[in-house]
Amino acid sequence: MATVLYEKDADRAQIANRKVAILGYGSQGHAHALNLKESGIDVRVGLREGSSSATKATEAGLRVLSLGDACAEADLIMMLLPDTEQADVYAAYVAPHLQAGDALFFAHGFNVRFNLISAPAEVDVAMVAPKGPGHLVRRTYVEGGGVPCLIAVGQDATGHAGDLALAYADAIGGARAGVIQTTFAEETETDLFGEQVVLCGGLTSLVTAGFETLCEAGYQPEVAYFECLHELKLIVDLMYEEGIGGMRYSISDTAEYGDLSRGDRIINADTRAEMKNILAEIQSGAFASEWMAESRSGRGRFLAMEADGQNHPIEKVGAELRSMMPWISQGRQSVQATSGGQG
Ligand code: NAD
Ligand code: MG
Repeated sequence: MATVLYEKDADRAQIANRKVAILGYGSQGHAHALNLKESGIDVRVGLREGSSSATKATEAGLRVLSLGDACAEADLIMMLLPDTEQADVYAAYVAPHLQAGDALFFAHGFNVRFNLISAPAEVDVAMVAPKGPGHLVRRTYVEGGGVPCLIAVGQDATGHAGDLALAYADAIGGARAGVIQTTFAEETETDLFGEQVVLCGGLTSLVTAGFETLCEAGYQPEVAYFECLHELKLIVDLMYEEGIGGMRYSISDTAEYGDLSRGDRIINADTRAEMKNILAEIQSGAFASEWMAESRSGRGRFLAMEADGQNHPIEKVGAELRSMMPWISQGRQSVQATSGGQG
């Protein structure tokens, strides 16, 4: 079992005298910058020239500098840019300013695990990865809580990289909720696997295929939408609150018998074999190479697949039905209001 670390285990002195640069002011960037500032840490935000986030960050009381100036001042640099952009920004603005004893931090291990960024040996490399979106990292901190974090050390030049990562996790509120030590490889590989197989890829394909099956059989799309997409939230909330057993306790016996006797036919031996193939592509770096090549060549295939998804009938019927249930998107608007901006 993993050891879970809390505020009492963190030594704030490790980060108290550091000059922190947060690069990027998006989902994670705004949350880390504001939480660190309110925890009394010396923080500045590094943004590219003409960034539309500059005003927002300044109005929030943060010091905003160019990427290069922020890196020149800082001795702890946190990369909160899109994973596909980090290597270019690192080469242009970060690497020229790294000195012995500095620390390079990440919120996801992608660039380190797949060797897109390799810091000089005399620099600490660590990860503080909140297990939740940035707006929750911010909101829970303001409310006195926090989002659990994974921390990892990629390179321990000073002998204190792990203590520094824990102190950082504490200063953004993570140690109130719990901090677990991992490695760059474990965090990156499990994160990619989770989003591809279960949380995003697996789930959207399951919902869409179920919807299509009902529509092709002649059932009304509205009924198919409620059944295959809308009700999912109720089931997921029960699993989140009470586990799979608790969810099964709440559904009818008929639903539970269908679950127990049919689930294995959907996620069958072939599906499990494909899960292993996807994991192998992640571990070998094939997925990372494919995604970096796609992103660097203009994202043509990515955008085409995204547009296909947006044009699917489930989106049209869903938009109509949700427009009659405005309370559903009101929750989302409050989420957007607390999250950072792009640019
Ligand atoms: P984001 O897309 O919300 O924000 C990225 C920021 O970088 C924006 O301010 C954007 O304008 C800026 N930016 C984009 N391209 C740039 C460039 N070329 N040069 C300079 N600035 C640029 O990203 P995010 O979701 O906050 O992700 C940041 C990191 O945090 C990633 O490593 C991600 O994997 C990790 N992470 C994200 C989440 C999450 O829920 N969003 C959770 C855990 C970890
Ligand atoms: Mg994740």
